Amino acid sequence: MTKRPLNLLWLQSGGCGGCTLSLIGAEGPDLITSLATAGIEVLWHPSLSAETGRGVIAIMERVTSGEVPLDILCLEGAVMRGPNGTGRFHMMAGTGRPVMDWIGELAAVAGHVVAVGSCAAFGGITAAGANHVEACGLAYEGTEPGGLLGHGFLSKSGLPVINVAGCPIHPDWLTETLHQIAAGRFDRGQVDEWERPVSYTNHLVHHGCSRNEFYEFKASAERLCDLGCMMENLGCKGTQARADCNIRPWNGSGSCIDGGYPCINCTSPGFEEPGHSFTATPKVSGIPVGLPTDMPKAWFVALAALSKAATPVRLKTNATADHVAVPPHDKQKRRP
Ligand code: SF4
Ligand code: SF4
Repeated sequence: MTKRPLNLLWLQSGGCGGCTLSLIGAEGPDLITSLATAGIEVLWHPSLSAETGRGVIAIMERVTSGEVPLDILCLEGAVMRGPNGTGRFHMMAGTGRPVMDWIGELAAVAGHVVAVGSCAAFGGITAAGANHVEACGLAYEGTEPGGLLGHGFLSKSGLPVINVAGCPIHPDWLTETLHQIAAGRFDRGQVDEWERPVSYTNHLVHHGCSRNEFYEFKASAERLCDLGCMMENLGCKGTQARADCNIRPWNGSGSCIDGGYPCINCTSPGFEEPGHSFTATPKVSGIPVGLPTDMPKAWFVALAALSKAATPVRLKTNATADHVAVPPHDKQKRRP
């Protein structure tokens, strides 16, 4: 029997479309090649498909009626439940029904349900502030289990909503997950405590960061243009954030940190409201509140004091410079 392609349907709700923008920038391979090699056929995606209006509605109706199987439902953007839980802030044009109702109906028949981005997973940026639109994720509302589908939700495959969190996602986080699903190799062991794929959350953003040498000696940047580590003063959460951004470069080159901006832990629920500026490190008695994952406070304080006392002049100088002011020098060659 010939294996049929897996059908994928993509809906966008309360988001900025940045996850799609990131996804279509996939390289090595590009998105179309990646989907083709996984044997995935896109029933509809707002940026990849020609159908609009009635055409899209017809596709969704054929899926919900069971005429067309739905193997993978992807949602990008938060579910907008307002006002007062009616969902009428976000209607599916031409159907007279809220988008959240369509999402619920499609999720009920889908083999796998994938939340693409932190909005769809946890509510994300769309749920920040007063959240008048009553935005939530598919299975979470911030850190609280629930969301639109309820935390106990299981798709037809028996898996919970797969939260490919990030704001935006790295394209490979999703394409890798889709390939694992297509190969029948995505099981419960493939997700972490927030149902995020461990393929990228088994790492910390800190891993592979080009500023690690500065971190080791607590040689800290003071301005966003400085070369030093951004943990002490500029709010970098790379030592706590779960993602492989500095191991798997973005757009073939770097990460937020390489671009001179601290990690804001965007793969984590609630990242959108840290309670302080994204570029400031909250401290108590001069000690950063957010310490590295797994590190007891006393150890951090002791190691930081020791490191600071031993910081080489090169790192101390370069940490607060916007270019390499003191280059490394080979000891075999005497200085003039
Ligand atoms: S997760 Fe971020 S990038 Fe993706 S749709 Fe939401 S706001 Fe945009
Ligand atoms: S704390 Fe941030 S800037 Fe410093 S080394 Fe780690 S990831 Fe890089």
